[in-house]
Amino acid sequence: MAITRRDFLKSVAGGSLLIAAQGLPAEASMPKELPPEAVGILYDATLCIGCKSCMVNCKVFNSVVDGGLYTEGMTSPPYEPFREFEMWDAGTDLTEKTLNVIKVYKSGKGINKDQVEDGYSFIKIHCLHCISPACVSVCPVAALKKDPINGVVYYEENRCIGCRYCQLACPFRIPKYEWSKTSPQVRKCQLCRHRYKEGKYSACCEFCPTGASIFGKVVDLKKEAERRLTLKAQTEYDFPVQTVDSKYRISRPVSQYINHIYGLNEVGGTQYLLLAGVPFHLLGFDKNLTDVHLPDLTWAYISKIPSVIAGILIGGAATWAITKNLTKNKDKDKGV
Ligand code: SF4
Ligand code: SF4
Ligand code: SF4
Repeated sequence: MAITRRDFLKSVAGGSLLIAAQGLPAEASMPKELPPEAVGILYDATLCIGCKSCMVNCKVFNSVVDGGLYTEGMTSPPYEPFREFEMWDAGTDLTEKTLNVIKVYKSGKGINKDQVEDGYSFIKIHCLHCISPACVSVCPVAALKKDPINGVVYYEENRCIGCRYCQLACPFRIPKYEWSKTSPQVRKCQLCRHRYKEGKYSACCEFCPTGASIFGKVVDLKKEAERRLTLKAQTEYDFPVQTVDSKYRISRPVSQYINHIYGLNEVGGTQYLLLAGVPFHLLGFDKNLTDVHLPDLTWAYISKIPSVIAGILIGGAATWAITKNLTKNKDKDKGV
C-alpha cells in the first residue's frame, strides 16, 4: 500500500512532536568523570599478531539476541565478502556489519614490528566508550545512553529516529548506519554488555590469544598500562590474557612503547585505552583531537546552528516515519 501525502505529513509531525517532547540534548547532564565501576578494554598493539580472532568473535557473539548486530530472525552473523573472495568474511573497515576492525600500519619495507622506520603495527578500532560521549550528548531522543554504573555507551533501537546526528558528532567516526534496510539501525560496539549477565565479558578479549586485548575495570586497566610504560624494553614481563586480573599470563619481552596511553585524556578520556610502539596519529587517530570533553564543544556548535539541527531532526523524523510506514504496510500486505 502506498503512503499518502496525508499519512506522510502526519508521521513527520508525529516524529517532530516526539523531538519537541524530548527536547534537544542536555549537555549539562553529561558525565565528566569515569563511573567508579567503569569497565573497558586495554589494547596493546605490541602484543597483537593481527590474527583477527577478535573480529570474528565480535561478529559471532553479537549476532545473538540482544547482541550489537542482532536483527530479529537472524540465523548467522552478517557477512562481508572480501572483493571477489566470496568464501571469506573480511571487513576492511567499520560498517553496519563489523563493529571491530584490525587495521595495519606499514612503512618502507614493513619488516620491523612496532617501529616507525621500515616498520609495521596493528591497530584495533571500535567504539572507545568516551567518558563524556559526544554521540550521547547530541541524540535528541536518548537512543544512545551511557550506563551510569559501568559507563558502557549503548543503543536503544526502539527510540532511534534515524537522524544520524551521532554519526556526525563522534570524533572517531564509529557509529554506522544500515542504509540498505527498510528499518535501519545505528550499529556500534556496545562492549558486549549483553554478555555480562552470564558472567561473561567482551568476546574480543575472551578470544584474543596473546593478551593484546584485555577486559577489566578501567582503573585497573589504567594501572596495568602505566606499569607497562615503566618497564625497560626487552625485560621479561607476565602479560595477562583475557582479563586484567587473569591468572593466565604469557611471559615475553617488553617492546619499546611510545610514552602515551591513548584514551587517558583524549576527548576528556575514554574507557578503551591503547598502547603502541608507533605514534597514534600514524595508526589513524586524529592528531588534532583535544582533551576537552567534546559535548562542551558540540553544544557550543549546535546552539549556533539551530536551523541545521532542526533540518536534521525533521529529516530524521521523516526517515523514521517513512520506514515505520513501509514496515507497517509490508506487515499488512503479509497479513501479519
Ligand atoms: S567513540 Fe564515538 S560512538 Fe563511541 S562513545 Fe565516543 S562518541 Fe560515542
Ligand atoms: S567489546 Fe564486544 S562488541 Fe565491542 S569490539 Fe569487542 S567483541 Fe565487539
Ligand atoms: S585477537 Fe588479539 S592478537 Fe588477534 S588480532 Fe585481535 S587483538 Fe590482535
